[in-house]
Amino acid sequence: MTHRVFNFAAGPAVLPEPVLAEAQRDLMALPGVGMSVMEISHRGKVFEEILNGCEADIRQLAGIPASHHVLFLQGGASLQFSMVPMNLLPAGGKADYIVTGSWGKKAVKEAQKVGVVQIAGTTEADNFSRVPEASELKLDPGAAYVHFTSNETIHGVEWSREPQTGSVPLVCDTSSDMFSRPIDVGRYGLIYAGAQKNLGPSGVTLVIVRDDLLARVPKNLPTMLDYAVQAKEKSLYNTPPTFGVYIMRLVMKWLLAEGGLSAIAGKNAEKAKLLYDALDGSGGYYRPHAKPGSRSNMNVVFRLPSEELEARFLSEAKKAGLDGLKGHRSVGGIRASIYNAFPKKGVEALVSFLKEFQRANG
Ligand code: PMP
Repeated sequence: MTHRVFNFAAGPAVLPEPVLAEAQRDLMALPGVGMSVMEISHRGKVFEEILNGCEADIRQLAGIPASHHVLFLQGGASLQFSMVPMNLLPAGGKADYIVTGSWGKKAVKEAQKVGVVQIAGTTEADNFSRVPEASELKLDPGAAYVHFTSNETIHGVEWSREPQTGSVPLVCDTSSDMFSRPIDVGRYGLIYAGAQKNLGPSGVTLVIVRDDLLARVPKNLPTMLDYAVQAKEKSLYNTPPTFGVYIMRLVMKWLLAEGGLSAIAGKNAEKAKLLYDALDGSGGYYRPHAKPGSRSNMNVVFRLPSEELEARFLSEAKKAGLDGLKGHRSVGGIRASIYNAFPKKGVEALVSFLKEFQRANG
């Protein structure tokens, strides 16, 4: 096999090796089919089994209630920034948004083009280093929905549990922590996630939407942007991203074989603790961006004493086989993304590198 580096990229990100191996093995021809998954009709039996199997595995993994539809759409999480308000924010209504980072801000910007947005909470004054306390939120019981971002990929800030919104539907961008831990889907009106971190390749967007919200969808929406149509047609209104769904199916099978969401959550917490402990134990040389209690188990963001040291850190890390550690340009510094498929051995390698780099450059 070609040598694989430790890939700390934020997304598209590392995929489980058994998934890549199976996809590679069956790329020329699916067993018993004689064609690759990219060459078969999306309306034939073989793809039907892949799509239905993927949905069934997702339902099993996350315990998704019958009240919720599972959709495989395109356009990334970014299109959901628009589709959510187009479908769920009626004319004359208002939506509450809680903003804990750049992605939440982008969601607000798109929703403002559609209707009235109220900022129910934001930690921008703290440079998005934490999630807000319940007491800081100004939630409107008359809001059409409350939107939040469970994990801010750029700032490395993650909610440990969802905000309490009473009977107002909760809408969440879970792009970077979907299926990294158990999720009580019954508490949500709508969940969306671009696949390219924890679920598969880019090109598929997973949307889980509660049935009763579909009654709100305005009649004049462009067909492709209409959740009600996508739910009625079971994601087959047009040609879905077939290869992406196929890989997602393999990732879901891998997750089930790993023991499901509680098991993967335990592994993720262990990996993140190794890294945060090393940063906290560095005497202030490495400074994590997020405050304890809001720290992401998926994206560990930290700074070094100077930008010059950060540049040296990145170049030496790459030479040591630790790739993709450059922080997002808006925050700077280092970002280690350690999604479900990222191996613990890679975190251990980074911890050793951190210590050695500090010893040589401290
Ligand atoms: N939301 C979050 C939390 C993200 O991390 C990203 C991508 N990094 C997006 C939205 C945008 O996703 P996409 O590129 O799939 O549109």
